Amino acid sequence: MFLFNPKTYRGQHPDSYTNEMLEAVAGWFEARGLKRLKQDWHEKTWNHDFVDFMKSRQVLATLMTPEGYGENAAWNTLRNVEFAEITGFYGITYWYTFQVSMLGLGPIFNGDNEQVKLQAAQLLKEGAVFAFGLSEREHGADIYSSSMQLIPQAGGGYVARGSKYYIGNGNEAALVSTFGKNSETGDYVFFVVDSQHEKYECVKNTVNAQNYVAEYRLNDYPVSDDDILSTGQKAWDDMLNTINYCKFNLGFGSIGLCTHALYESINHAASRILYGKQVTDFPQVKRLFTDAYCRLTAMKLFSYRAVDYLRCASLKDRRYLLFNPIVKMKVTMEGEKVIDELWDVIAAKGFEAEPFFEIAAVEIRSLPKLEGTAHVNMALIVKFLKNYLFAPVDYPEIPRRTDLDDDTFLFHQGPAKGLGEIHFHDYRKTYDRFDLPNIEVFKAQIEGFRKLLITAGPDPQQIRDIDYMLSMGELFTLVVYGHLILEKAEMDGTDVDLLNQVFDVFVRDFSAYATGLHGKPGNTDAQRALIRELIMAPAADPEQFDRVWREHVYALNGQYEMAD
Ligand SMILES: Cc1cc2nc3c(=O)[nH]c(=O)nc-3n(C[C@H](O)[C@H](O)[C@H](O)COP(=O)(O)OP(=O)(O)OC[C@H]3O[C@@H](n4cnc5c(N)ncnc54)[C@H](O)[C@@H]3O)c2cc1C
Repeated sequence: MFLFNPKTYRGQHPDSYTNEMLEAVAGWFEARGLKRLKQDWHEKTWNHDFVDFMKSRQVLATLMTPEGYGENAAWNTLRNVEFAEITGFYGITYWYTFQVSMLGLGPIFNGDNEQVKLQAAQLLKEGAVFAFGLSEREHGADIYSSSMQLIPQAGGGYVARGSKYYIGNGNEAALVSTFGKNSETGDYVFFVVDSQHEKYECVKNTVNAQNYVAEYRLNDYPVSDDDILSTGQKAWDDMLNTINYCKFNLGFGSIGLCTHALYESINHAASRILYGKQVTDFPQVKRLFTDAYCRLTAMKLFSYRAVDYLRCASLKDRRYLLFNPIVKMKVTMEGEKVIDELWDVIAAKGFEAEPFFEIAAVEIRSLPKLEGTAHVNMALIVKFLKNYLFAPVDYPEIPRRTDLDDDTFLFHQGPAKGLGEIHFHDYRKTYDRFDLPNIEVFKAQIEGFRKLLITAGPDPQQIRDIDYMLSMGELFTLVVYGHLILEKAEMDGTDVDLLNQVFDVFVRDFSAYATGLHGKPGNTDAQRALIRELIMAPAADPEQFDRVWREHVYALNGQYEMAD
């Protein structure tokens, strides 16, 4: 799988319209240039120009009008995530406008209000952006406690009263999908408001950044039944189901940021001479770059394979409910590690005003914290541990999905509950198709993990201790991560040297996570002894490392530089 490079990028979708549109997006940024990109970032200029461009090319309308609401319309996850990766390559502001528009459109297209769906499709054509009003200042992740109120009025209709905090596009959105409660019944409700209405008060930008992440207040904003998207349990499910597929985009934004930062870093390090030799000749620099490259390769392999599972999902196959939070949580945290490793190499350069890296260094941090923190997503992931490791079932093979079909199921995900009933295909069958040295070590680590769980698994008190379970979740997540990476590597014919090197990183990471679990205060002696067995070293192969370094990593030197 190749890294995105605007110089050589050609869309691979079956229709030329999509390919030309995505190429035009990259072309817009390239023509604008790095100097202007940085100026807008430093001056915190909201991306009106990009929104105008997207309108002229009907970008958001193409990406986010589902089948049935426009000519040739299709909501297609593959092209959506590719757009997310491309915009992430130039900065999170551009990605975020799309991301929160998708979040805003989710409750509309998941909802029961046909008129608002038609209205949204028309607004997309007109180049509008959208917003998702869920979070509140006081309640954070505790969305059960939402205090936005929809108050029934004597003559019919309602007024909305309350405020929302951290709402992207809240300054501009044509429709803001707002989550609240009926003040009389206490039922959840999703309704739409217009950010330009006089009773909608855009209080401020809560962040000092190029993004507009609004606080808004509804001052007895009049709402009629025509503005209501869903009520009761359906409103709750629509909220979670929207986040299920939208949070997926975070991983792709992270991949984009890291890719751009990697090109810049290798160009800089390879052309810098210290003590008479290239910085890229230092052994620790080779190791940092190679680890960063392996992590980025893994992020991309996992995320694009997860697309296939999301696109093939159905009420009978809900495996995406494990894979999506991993794209959200694991991939974005791996993105942080990539930037840390690159920054260790380029040092002072990472602070400079002109290069792109400064943007990546700041923005990579936000992605694990949006749409549910890493903890919230990990708490979700560990719910699947038992069925995934110990109760596999057979499923039909999930193919690579490159078609242009509409992903209709996203709007028919049904009730958000029933996670304990989801089963997975057997990861061991995939791992067993490989016999590379580091995959063998990793398999031994997985076996050790199973032994720990079977013979000295967490007791009821440890299960209730979120800190303990989050630590255990890191080990589990890596097993799932490797599983889909191997499936994708097999399909793509990924170079075996590179794959073995990716698992060199995983063996070290698994050992580090095991060390973290080992230090938890509640462990028994038996648990500690078994956890220590998980700490292993990768199979050393300096020649193979050197091949990966030369043929994959150093080979990126000079491949891309954004022009001023
Ligand atoms: C730049 C930015 C843009 C955003 N855009 C939007 C937007 O457009 N629309 C929108 O609705 N929201 C948006 N958000 C809000 C975002 O989704 C919240 O930040 C997130 O839900 C977490 O809330 P919080 O940051 O207040 O953390 P808190 O809820 O205060 O969490 C505090 C701590 O408790 C932990 N915690 C909370 N619940 C659990 C749990 N169940 N299990 C384990 N640990 C838990 C958290 O991990 C964290 O460590 C945005 C936030 C930012 C920073």
